[in-house]
Amino acid sequence: MSLPKNRAVFLDRDGTLNEDSADYIKSIAEFRLFEFTPSALRLFQKLGFLIIIISNQSAIGRGLMTRWTVDEINGAMKSILRENNISITDIYYCPHKPDDKCDCRKPGTENIKRAIAEHNIDVAGSYFIGDSQKDIQAGAAVGCKSILVKSGVNPPSFCAIQNWDPRPNFVTDNILEAAQLVECLERSRDK
Ligand SMILES: [Mg+2]
Ligand SMILES: [Zn+2]
Repeated sequence: MSLPKNRAVFLDRDGTLNEDSADYIKSIAEFRLFEFTPSALRLFQKLGFLIIIISNQSAIGRGLMTRWTVDEINGAMKSILRENNISITDIYYCPHKPDDKCDCRKPGTENIKRAIAEHNIDVAGSYFIGDSQKDIQAGAAVGCKSILVKSGVNPPSFCAIQNWDPRPNFVTDNILEAAQLVECLERSRDK
């Protein structure tokens, strides 16, 4: 007998949960959670989704920071969220740079597949949410619905998105709007 499967929101970190920067988030001092992120994550939690972060951190591979720093930033983020009654189920990140040709850097799916296996995830009932085309590609590749948020450094234009393959299922301004959209989709699903 298999356990009932969990549904998850797979979330990109930089540009989705916190302000991104053109030259990476390399220290706690550079990390700024968007003010609406706690409300968004609380809503996902209320809807019964596990919250799993899947992040590319190529600044490690580029020698701009260490894994220790990434863990420290993630730890600080988790403690802010914990104070807001939000628990992050897990965080996976890729430390490589693009020319390392690994499978864990999005749009590669190794980290998401690990998360799916380790947390018994129902992919079809889950969402991948991020600010870049790589997020949408990775989510679609494993069979999640995808939401592009336009809160990154250089948000793509609606025109550009029309030429993506695959295109995101939905486009919202930010993670809070994405959470409200998912709430509304859940309501129609329950009917
Ligand atoms: Mg991002
Ligand atoms: Zn990697």
